[in-house]
Amino acid sequence: MTFLAATATTDPATNIATLLPLAGILAVTLWALGYAAACATSPFARCNRCGGRGKTLTARGHLKRFCRRCKGTGLRLRWGRRLFNALHHFFGAAR
Ligand SMILES: [Zn+2]
Repeated sequence: MTFLAATATTDPATNIATLLPLAGILAVTLWALGYAAACATSPFARCNRCGGRGKTLTARGHLKRFCRRCKGTGLRLRWGRRLFNALHHFFGAAR
């Protein structure tokens, strides 16, 4: 009596060992595509220092001062867009 189903399957440990790096590469690729789409559609994100308010407030809610990092705009350029702009400037200057 032979067990065909048992002989047709491979070792699950080797399956996971080969699929895990591929899943990682796929996840990184999907993240990169999503981040590139985010940089293309909305290049600005909220400022990390002031949370997008553009200013810091006192405990009573009055204006303390404008955010120095974003100069009061509440926005920051995403690093992916900054990289894109630098590469565009670099390769555009070569033409
Ligand atoms: Zn800010």
